[in-house]
Amino acid sequence: MAQSFDVLIRGATVVDGTGAPRFAGDVAIQGDRIARVGSLDGARAKHEYDARGLVLAPGFIDAHTHDDSVMLPGGDVTPKVSQGVTTVIGGNCGCSIAPMPRAIPNPVPPPLDLIAARGGWIYRRFSDYVRVLEATPPAINCAMLVGHNTLRVAVMAKLQRPASEKEVRLMRDLADQSLEAGAIGVSTGLAYAPGRCAPIEEVIEVCEPLRDHHGLYCTHMRNEGDDIVDSLEETFRVGASLGIPVNISHHKLIGVHNHGRSKETLGLIADRMTSQAVYLDCYPYTASSTVLLPERVETASRTLITWSKGAPRYAGWDLADIVADMGVTRDGAIARLQPAGAVYHNMSDEDVERILAFDATMVGSDGLPNDERPHPRLWGTFARVLGHYSRDLGLFPLEKAIHKMTGLTAGNFGLIDRGVIREDAFADLTLFDAGGVAETATYTNPSQRAAGVCKVWVNGDLVWDGDRLSGAHPGRFLTH
Ligand SMILES: [Zn+2]
Repeated sequence: MAQSFDVLIRGATVVDGTGAPRFAGDVAIQGDRIARVGSLDGARAKHEYDARGLVLAPGFIDAHTHDDSVMLPGGDVTPKVSQGVTTVIGGNCGCSIAPMPRAIPNPVPPPLDLIAARGGWIYRRFSDYVRVLEATPPAINCAMLVGHNTLRVAVMAKLQRPASEKEVRLMRDLADQSLEAGAIGVSTGLAYAPGRCAPIEEVIEVCEPLRDHHGLYCTHMRNEGDDIVDSLEETFRVGASLGIPVNISHHKLIGVHNHGRSKETLGLIADRMTSQAVYLDCYPYTASSTVLLPERVETASRTLITWSKGAPRYAGWDLADIVADMGVTRDGAIARLQPAGAVYHNMSDEDVERILAFDATMVGSDGLPNDERPHPRLWGTFARVLGHYSRDLGLFPLEKAIHKMTGLTAGNFGLIDRGVIREDAFADLTLFDAGGVAETATYTNPSQRAAGVCKVWVNGDLVWDGDRLSGAHPGRFLTH
């Protein structure tokens, strides 16, 4: 009798996510796991696919997202699925949708408005959020961090100061409960108003439960420009004093006079990696994006507005054109647009390429799914790394590109049996055309699905078929 499986993918070029060289093979799925990898000529399956000429990789893991609210309820997460992403890490930059044990101030203090909780800030405990995720699963998997900015808003009436001893204790307890409920780490956004007022001692105390829970610390550092070395040292100190891994989020150098300094920062990171666990992620673009901040406009050669509550019709406009159209000063225009979001052209190609090519760097989109005219990284990151950077520029081989978005990421975040193609691993898989994969999202037309992604499976279920969603929602809440 021929062996029989649920799914059989025949004749693929397999890139297994470990960084090892590609090989030709068949992959069989049974239930939610990979059952066999190899030559399965005599085998049969309910669903068989001819994958000749295509690459089969582990589903991509987005190391840095703000997808907290779009996972719910039963989210399709199309910008990610269409690129072959099967797992996202949410709750970044100090912003998580939970826990929010009290009524949140209105308007929501930035940068929490980045994650724009649909249906409101209704998850009093982190476990409430997990329960809804599990009751109405999204199309893809997620693992979540608990955000320090969220914790500050949750316990502090006035944010522009260090937390009191009592407030620190309350935040630490909330972090502890969230980790107990399955969060995999704590994130900070120390560049933003609520987090900025926190001294390192506050951060270390709030992160203290990470030790017992084997969690990690992810940080949007206090400074990514002139004072970046101080911020790196601060990050290393948090990790070293608690004996926990740290992840430097969206590593970049902003401001023209800092361009080229990635040589220095990567040297420092490589050096510190010999004595403590240091990870980093990066998105493949030379423009950043966040809420509209006057000081950030200063660092950019060009600023585009992604959304505005103050003057919604300017979404998608260049700030310079808005200034002319309004007939006011730049500061006047910024004030009228608020609250708002923006894209800032403020990095160099040289730094982005050097950081992306650095062996330890993971790929994370930092996409902002609630923005009206989002930065193209939301829909384009993974296709751009595979197409533009690996294939077209030859910055690194395909095997290394895939490792940076699969095996490396799963290892760093402790996602067991994910990010790799091998027998008994979860059947999160992406089948794509290595010659045709490309981002189509641009700054002017940002909400466009990537080209070249053929099929995507999550926990053994097909979620993306050619150019459309299958409608399946097999995503799981992952913990470690
Ligand atoms: Zn950030």
